[in-house]
Amino acid sequence: MARFTLPRDLYHGKGSLEELKNLTGKRAIVVVGGGSMKRFGFLDRAVGYLKEAGMEVELFENVEPDPSVETVMRGAEAMRKFEPDWIVSMGGGSPIDAAKAMWVFYEYPETSFEDLITPFNFPTLRTKAKFCAIPSTSGTATEVTAFSVITDYKKGIKYPLADFNITPDVAIVDPDLAETMPQKLTAHTGMDALTHAIEAYVSTLHCDYTDPLAMHAIKMIHNDLKKSYDGDMEARDRMHNAQCLAGMAFSNALLGIVHSMAHKTGAAYSGGHIVHGCANAMYLPKVIQFNAKNPEAAERYAEIARAIELKGDSTEELVAEIKAMNVSLDIPSGIKDYEGGIIDEKEFLDKLSQVAENAIGDACTGSNPRIPTQEEMEGLLKACFYGEDVNF
Ligand code: FE
Repeated sequence: MARFTLPRDLYHGKGSLEELKNLTGKRAIVVVGGGSMKRFGFLDRAVGYLKEAGMEVELFENVEPDPSVETVMRGAEAMRKFEPDWIVSMGGGSPIDAAKAMWVFYEYPETSFEDLITPFNFPTLRTKAKFCAIPSTSGTATEVTAFSVITDYKKGIKYPLADFNITPDVAIVDPDLAETMPQKLTAHTGMDALTHAIEAYVSTLHCDYTDPLAMHAIKMIHNDLKKSYDGDMEARDRMHNAQCLAGMAFSNALLGIVHSMAHKTGAAYSGGHIVHGCANAMYLPKVIQFNAKNPEAAERYAEIARAIELKGDSTEELVAEIKAMNVSLDIPSGIKDYEGGIIDEKEFLDKLSQVAENAIGDACTGSNPRIPTQEEMEGLLKACFYGEDVNF
């Protein structure tokens, strides 16, 4: 038996933000990030629509990128005081992910963060509030997924929380919001979305319900990401849908070790965070080479290569195409060149065995088509650092 879960309603297209007018409830808390939604006027519009719906509205602002356990707890406290029956989160992946975790602690104050680390083990939500998500970036697709990534800064680890209880009730995929993305964010989030679709397509849990979503997303992203990066707003609008389709696929088929490594390297080094989408973009070609030693996965990669009409249909053509996409989007081939080399080589090597162990233990590893040993994971991470091919 397998389960396939998506939001009950998804509104899409330019201007769909206005659907907030039609939510029914008494009180809505709006969870947002650092200010771009306010600056571009979307926050005011959202609050206006919710008031038109007859709701009392409170804001929870300034959720930081890579939200912390502490921010989640503060948000849950604000919700316990205000008692909203709608949680509306708007912005990039971070405020929406944070709001999902706040929702759990709002409804179950006695739950501990440790309780939630076991995947698909959440208490039943919607006893107090429903959840509406409105993405402003085209990548995480958190508006349709059962996931939330929260960072424990004391331990330097990103936790991917996973449960269909936190799949939102309503998603509003309005491309007007995505048109505000700066160029670099467009590249990183777009490659995150491509990684979602490819990892979902080769996942051991892929199925007839997830395959068409993943494959269509791959084709769209392959066609539109570079154009979107170059400022073509029609391509930008299509990317907003493409990333959402990828999200529908991976929320149900799960992911693989590109994400395991991105989660565990993201906050591990003192030089700075490695941005999620950029990490995925750098690691994806190496993981495809590693996974393709599994013949079934190799055939799935070949199907992708055929679908996007590459000259050959082998793994190597797909790897070459993804490397070329990275170059065109100004993404480096390895961590050593990330942001001008902010990650120190010695620190990377000192932490290699621990980071590899953490990555193997990540919730995304279980559905990868080839399970790496400790030695193989260390080899993969080194290839990701130095930007080298993987031949084992
Ligand atoms: Fe991701």
